[in-house]
Amino acid sequence: MKCAKCGAEIKDGEKKCPECGEKRPGYFNFIKRRQLREQETAEILEKSYIHEEDVAAAGVSGLSVRYRGKVGEELVRSGIKLGISVLFMCACIAVIAIRQYTELLDGLDTLGTAIVLLGAFLLLFGNGASVANSSYFIARLNALKKQGLGVSKINYGKNPTAVYAGNVYEVSVSDTCPKCEQPTAMHIEQVQDMLVAVCNADRNHLFRLDKAFVLNAIMESEFKRTGLPYTPIVLESAKAEEGESESRESEREEASGESAAEKTENTAQDPAPAESRSEKGEKN
Ligand SMILES: [Zn+2]
Ligand SMILES: [Zn+2]
Repeated sequence: MKCAKCGAEIKDGEKKCPECGEKRPGYFNFIKRRQLREQETAEILEKSYIHEEDVAAAGVSGLSVRYRGKVGEELVRSGIKLGISVLFMCACIAVIAIRQYTELLDGLDTLGTAIVLLGAFLLLFGNGASVANSSYFIARLNALKKQGLGVSKINYGKNPTAVYAGNVYEVSVSDTCPKCEQPTAMHIEQVQDMLVAVCNADRNHLFRLDKAFVLNAIMESEFKRTGLPYTPIVLESAKAEEGESESRESEREEASGESAAEKTENTAQDPAPAESRSEKGEKN
């Protein structure tokens, strides 16, 4: 991890930056840690684009797609989870309120009261996090459902979720890291709108996943599962090449068009060769 203040490398296990002494974000400050990690990934990616453009192009090609169920079922499951968490939160608040405002728990000794209250608070916060997580998941899954076909990392710490043909899938990398000599597994991270396969051993080993390639793998797996026919999407890399050659062609056309126009101009105004004309221009 990089130091947030000076950018020096802080090794795993070290609590402070060796350069400037800035404390590394604590274990419980997972939002900050997550932000720092995303920032680091983006920086490494940028560097790898500049120095090793082929890394992104060569990429990782082994994906595994797991069918998880119908979107509706998944939404109901998450909804139930959300509901249970909310009920638990209410129960915890009720216990705390009963302790505070009634005499029902007065029979407990100090230790008993402490245990009950601590348990209630822990459950309250745990379920609060669960409610936030489930709500986020439901909202993002609904967005994917509206899209019809899409893949996105919508569950923190888990594989990306994909939606296609009203079904939910989980996508993971089945390839080992192409840069590591020892077979090392990879996981998928999302940087802005980009899916990136990251080596589990070395965070510098990054491979951009073509979204179209991922979506094709999902459609392929559905085809194998149910026989639903599909038309593969054109890969981003192929699109880029096409675009380049197109623009090159149009440049060529423009160039030839210009020269043709020049020629006609030349013949119309002055039958002399272009060279002598430019010489004349210089003299003038
Ligand atoms: Zn530092
Ligand atoms: Zn690696």
